[in-house]
Amino acid sequence: MNTPVPTPSSSAAARPLPRIALLATGGTIAGAAPDAANTAGYQAGVIGVAQLLAAVPGLGAIADIQAEQAASIDSKDMALALWTTLAQRVNTLLAQDDIDGVVITHGTDTLEETAYLLHLAVKSAKPVVMTAAMRPASALSADGPLNLLNAVTVAASPAAAGQGVLVAFNNRIHCARDVVKVSTYAVDAFQSPEIGALGWVQDGRVEFQRRALRPHTVATPFAAVERWPQVEIVASYAGVSRVAVDALVAAGVRGIVVAGTGNGSIHATLQQALAEAAAQGVAIVRASRVGSGHVMHNGAASDDALGFVSAGTLNPYKARVLLALALAQGTAERVALQGVFDRY
Ligand code: ASP
Repeated sequence: MNTPVPTPSSSAAARPLPRIALLATGGTIAGAAPDAANTAGYQAGVIGVAQLLAAVPGLGAIADIQAEQAASIDSKDMALALWTTLAQRVNTLLAQDDIDGVVITHGTDTLEETAYLLHLAVKSAKPVVMTAAMRPASALSADGPLNLLNAVTVAASPAAAGQGVLVAFNNRIHCARDVVKVSTYAVDAFQSPEIGALGWVQDGRVEFQRRALRPHTVATPFAAVERWPQVEIVASYAGVSRVAVDALVAAGVRGIVVAGTGNGSIHATLQQALAEAAAQGVAIVRASRVGSGHVMHNGAASDDALGFVSAGTLNPYKARVLLALALAQGTAERVALQGVFDRY
């Protein structure tokens, strides 16, 4: 009797593939333009998840994909309610024994915000990988299919577990906390300024060269909520008035993030308005409009006296996400809030 000798392919086939849930939300990766040379005049979020998958031959060899259309939007229109729906859906999927990881396709415009929100609010150590595209699906050299293939490759990798939410884009793997969009048009549109990417993915290989140190996912007390506290952003610039801050306070906002100049410095007029807002119980967080570096807490010199919190390395948009989550979870006192910004 002949004993069958396992071949490399038959033994690989015997191993069950990782089961990855794909949540499509729209964006340019699901965008369509009138012709293939058109990379700017397109409509985002019009191509369905089945078509996204059909454009990526070979995906089925990497993972068993369970796909669903979570939304079909241009991510410039991302809404707080959709954040909550998305976070809840990711948590539900990852709680299932038959799901090993989640991939989310998203628009590039607010990807850095959604990624950080999920990084803090998802409660699982299983991989969650987001991706996107700068060119619509209809374009010559569309970047979406390879980005999707790479995102699934990362999500299927055991090395991606326990790293919070990752962003796989243009072959690099970024931490959701650090990644930002840095180009309005280039295919290499995402960076993690100062800190750099965590690793890379190419041709089926996933390599991490560092890990995120700050607590995320299961190690945070944060959760997406049904009713978000209102947190807005104002900027400091030459000749800025206090009109916006006064209007926000009158509207009853719970928090304001200021996109300050340089190291989070604020025009004296705006600073006065913000200090008055802080005295009325509005949480004020100082971030910077610069785009890289950190905003140092200047304690006794002014933050403590003015009632401000400093955002550290978070840009204003990410600082807004953390402030909203902290306020929603019940942390509003300034020293406790500073602790939140120093920790997460
Ligand atoms: N406006 C698009 C979006 O964010 C841009 C993109 O995906 O590149 O949905």
